[in-house]
Amino acid sequence: MARGTRRPRGVTVKTPEQVQLMRAAGLVVARTLERVVAAVRPGVTTGELDRIAEESIRGEGAVPSFLGYHGFPGSICASVGAQVVHGIPGDRVLAEGELLSVDCGAILAGWHGDAAVTVAVGECAPELLALSAVTEQALWAGIAAVHPGGRLSDVGHAVETVVRPHGYGLLEDYTGHGIGTAMHEPPYVPNLAPDGPGRGMVLDPGIVLAVEPMATLGAPDVAELDDGWTVVTTDGAQAAHWEHTVAVTPDGPWVLTALDGGAGRLGTPVPAA
Ligand code: MG
Ligand code: MG
Repeated sequence: MARGTRRPRGVTVKTPEQVQLMRAAGLVVARTLERVVAAVRPGVTTGELDRIAEESIRGEGAVPSFLGYHGFPGSICASVGAQVVHGIPGDRVLAEGELLSVDCGAILAGWHGDAAVTVAVGECAPELLALSAVTEQALWAGIAAVHPGGRLSDVGHAVETVVRPHGYGLLEDYTGHGIGTAMHEPPYVPNLAPDGPGRGMVLDPGIVLAVEPMATLGAPDVAELDDGWTVVTTDGAQAAHWEHTVAVTPDGPWVLTALDGGAGRLGTPVPAA
């Protein structure tokens, strides 16, 4: 085994049967996000979106993984404007022109799914729509790098390659992660690759990662609010966040939290289940 290819301690390799169970959990998250996004409009509170998410998750026989996680009080993270991630849902009323990120996680039969989308509230400024679109494009570039025989830093390199030319801030201190019977497992999945691609552990079939780029219209510097959760940009710049849970399969990436498994965006065949 070449230097630097070893898996960090705690990285788990799922059997095909376990990946199927994670697919079921991922679909709960996918359908829940679809329901939440359909309810986003000016005048809605983030707390109302949270109730829709919790009803959706429980209605599918799953459990919201965020609720009670280290004391987190919601089933979604709802992050508006300069909030990047971990916004607490509540009585915040969404206004026309805002960018909202919704992060959602569910546990089904003991297995986790985790995904996030950024949505425009009503009509948004073109620069905000571009920020979100580029961050989503970076997510899909990162996902495309989750292929068998690839290396972990291929993911961050792919994300960075999409985001950098736009001059956006790319968060360094918050990363993607392994996922399985726990929401957060090793390894960390950075959104940049200072030493280039081709570094870090080998992506073998059965590795499952949450890829989640976070980008801002300003600097990449963030701070946590006194609520102990909400992460905001220190310069007040607007932010976007996109995430999917992705399994390495012998045939390539399988996007467990995408309704179509990623086939549409990746343009490649993925497992049919
Ligand atoms: Mg998430
Ligand atoms: Mg995550």
